[in-house]
Amino acid sequence: MYNPATGQIQAQVDLASAAEVGEAVAAALKASEEWSESSLTQRTQIMFRFRELLAERTDELARVISSEHGKVVSDAAGEVARGLENVEFACGIAHHLKGEINEQVSAGIEVYSLRQPLGVVAGITPFNFPAMVPAWMFATAIACGNTFICKPSERDPSASMLIAEWFIEAGLPPGVFSVVNGDKEAVDALIDHQDVDAISFVGSTPIASYVYERATSAGKRVQALGGAKNHMLVLPDADIDMAADAAVSAAYGSAGERCMAVSALVAVGSAADELVEAISQRIPDVKVGVGTEPDAEMGPLITAEHRDRVAGYVERAQQAGAVAVVDGSNADLPSEGFFYGPTLLDEVTADMECYRDEIFGPVLSVVRVETFQEAMDLINENPFGNGTAIFTRDGGVARQFQHEVQVGMVGINVPIPVPVAYHSFGGWKASLFGDTHMYGPEGVRFYTRAKAITARWPDPASSQIDLGFPQNS
Ligand code: NAD
Repeated sequence: MYNPATGQIQAQVDLASAAEVGEAVAAALKASEEWSESSLTQRTQIMFRFRELLAERTDELARVISSEHGKVVSDAAGEVARGLENVEFACGIAHHLKGEINEQVSAGIEVYSLRQPLGVVAGITPFNFPAMVPAWMFATAIACGNTFICKPSERDPSASMLIAEWFIEAGLPPGVFSVVNGDKEAVDALIDHQDVDAISFVGSTPIASYVYERATSAGKRVQALGGAKNHMLVLPDADIDMAADAAVSAAYGSAGERCMAVSALVAVGSAADELVEAISQRIPDVKVGVGTEPDAEMGPLITAEHRDRVAGYVERAQQAGAVAVVDGSNADLPSEGFFYGPTLLDEVTADMECYRDEIFGPVLSVVRVETFQEAMDLINENPFGNGTAIFTRDGGVARQFQHEVQVGMVGINVPIPVPVAYHSFGGWKASLFGDTHMYGPEGVRFYTRAKAITARWPDPASSQIDLGFPQNS
């Protein structure tokens, strides 16, 4: 495992075998016997204690994340804060697990529905949010009464290891939250294990699709979130300085290694020239540096291979006819580590590789279109549908955009519209396989199953045989 800011190997990660995954599942299954029967009061109290530990230790966790992922410490702290919101949501789980009841559906009969935990559930998470994405899953899963096995990215697993320790400190019984480090072998073992009831996955689209197919074939409940190509549409009536600030923040924050990063800027008509100019003026001020430096705003990429992959995209984009207004390979960068500078490509067209693929680096492609409708068609024809944003002063057009766009999360003058913890997170099309989005109310539904009860307490004296289908009256 590397420190991406120095390029040096800093630790070794042991990868679990299928047998070791089996041991973790057995421990989780054992723990679920008691945890599924734990009271809501007990779960809530533990979650509140864990919330306090996480809040107090945000800086410690952020520094660990920065050293393994490379993102700057302030950005890592922001990730922890958003994960904390999921824990806070879980502190109120009792409210979300309230059942529903109809009294007197028929004479003397009540029907009520409950939600009960699934059992053992597993989460397979990506490298780019080593604390927040696990929190999207474990907070709700555990609060709903499940035991949870986290399989973090092998590139930055320490955040979930710390979280496991802090849960024990908060009073969570052993086996309720566990971490299994591993690669494909561990993932396959979790998917195939008969005692794992549900799989939550976040990562790239090819692996999301693979996990979804394999786990649903194994009879499991699955939510598998994939990659993205997020468009920011800017209309000529927008405040161009505000749109340029938003584009720079959303394209280059975390070196573009966010599933909600803006990677395609769709500029309508006269907005294009002004925007390209305003963004190119801002790029030299983005402070690229080691994540622990107080003034650094953008860190390195995760590996040398990934940096070279990003550089390859930028090179081929220019060969295909895109104009590199700012080329990150010419940036003044720290001499060690996997750095690549913010890059602005203009004159990008929909058939170019740099537009079609998720580059997952600090590369913003500007696609020029003439009309709002052309911009909408471009976004709706894209196979991904994770996030998108519109910048305009026209409420009517924004309303039309929100209504017609085929994307799961939409920002109106908000470039990174990650929903708060009490809504749910999820994309459409190739950005999500499965039916339920993650965390919030949809997370509660995913991690529980419904039971409907029909009850009556009649006088036995009125009992009689009736072979007809039960009727309500
Ligand atoms: P990845 O798909 O390479 O890895 C994700 C997880 O899958 C890791 O735990 C990894 O160990 C495991 N994995 C990798 N290859 C596997 C295989 N062949 N079989 C089984 N498991 C395998 O993704 P990544 O590079 O860690 O993360 C970046 C990707 O995640 C980007 O595409 C990004 O858009 C996406 N992402 C999506 C969201 C979202 O909410 N939609 C959020 C964060 C990241």
